[in-house]
Amino acid sequence: MKSYAMLRIGEAGWIEKEDPRCGPLDAICRPIALAPCSSDIHTVYEGGIGERHDMTLGHEGVGEVVEVGALVGDFKVGDRVIIPAITPDWSSVAAQDGYPMHSGAPLGGWKFSNTKDGVFAELIHVNDADGNLAILPDEISPEAGVMLSDMATTGLHGAELARIRPGDATVVIGIGPVGLMSVASAAILGAGRLFAVGSRPNCIEVAKEFGATDIVNYREGDIVEQVMEGTKGEGVDRVVVAGGDLGTFQQAFDILKPGGWVGNVNYLGEGDNIKISRRSSLVGMGHKHLVGGLTPGGRRRMERMANLVLAGRIHPEKMITHRFRGLEHIEEGVELMRRKPRDLIKPVVTV
Ligand code: NDP
Ligand code: ZN
Repeated sequence: MKSYAMLRIGEAGWIEKEDPRCGPLDAICRPIALAPCSSDIHTVYEGGIGERHDMTLGHEGVGEVVEVGALVGDFKVGDRVIIPAITPDWSSVAAQDGYPMHSGAPLGGWKFSNTKDGVFAELIHVNDADGNLAILPDEISPEAGVMLSDMATTGLHGAELARIRPGDATVVIGIGPVGLMSVASAAILGAGRLFAVGSRPNCIEVAKEFGATDIVNYREGDIVEQVMEGTKGEGVDRVVVAGGDLGTFQQAFDILKPGGWVGNVNYLGEGDNIKISRRSSLVGMGHKHLVGGLTPGGRRRMERMANLVLAGRIHPEKMITHRFRGLEHIEEGVELMRRKPRDLIKPVVTV
């Protein structure tokens, strides 16, 4: 089969691969809608997770089941399914401990385009199909569905990690598609003042639609100064990090009140150490928390994401700015994610 792959760090291209084999618990799907992710770019062009050779890229998909293993009970050939970016081994100890995304190994639930071939191919192998696939409801278009596979769940996870409570003054740093979904999620969780930090006009418009009360343009002034000014020097209760770099955590701690939480979902593809000043840690005694996480995945999580769309609480399709038809356009989609033109939020390829 044809697949768009990471050939080595710094290089991606089309290759021929063996068709995947379906084990007893697995399913094989053909893609219906696919989306490139910023993570694909960190992986190929920054070498964020190290070297990979001829590994099919992509982890965001909606597909049609074309084969199921003998032990798969809940899915059949012809079903339209959301294929989550994170497909844990549900019988693992880590899953039993509540961290399915780390099943088998740290980050082990992230298999597509990390430890096995991803979804940018004519056929997609899904492990533990009953535990990982979710039916795409008829009311949800494949292009909206593919936004659930990673963007919606990751954005929500940032808000979960930051432990947003009703009324909390919250900042979301980074409003690409992930951060925009964090904004929407923070609004659902009941954030009070909700600052969105970004600069692309499209993203700013969608952030407002998704519930941001204040916009901070980090290119036009210092984030810390703008947020402190906007909160009359108080700072905020919660920060979600969905963009920026290693220096962003210092800014997050600078605007965080004592007892506050920073939830990071940004993939740190470059650099070595996160540094946080003694001062902003309140001489080490500020009860400030920092936690970063890979999104949970799997079937139930995807069903919940679909429920949010069905109930009209999130509108992930509003983030789609570029549409392509045909698997061959994946290359263009990936290049767009790499170049990040100012009018881009998220591209989708329907197959
Ligand atoms: P984008 O590149 O589209 O968005 C990044 C955002 O951060 C933009 O709003 C950008 O602003 C802003 N930004 C960039 N630099 C700075 C800075 N120095 N200070 C403040 N803001 C800044 O990324 P995505 O939304 O696609 O993805 C976000 C991250 O989430 C990526 O690292 C991705 O790999 C990761 N990810 C993590 C997952 C997980 O499970 N944890 C899953 C999926 C993705 P501007 O408007 O100027 O572009
Ligand atoms: Zn992704």
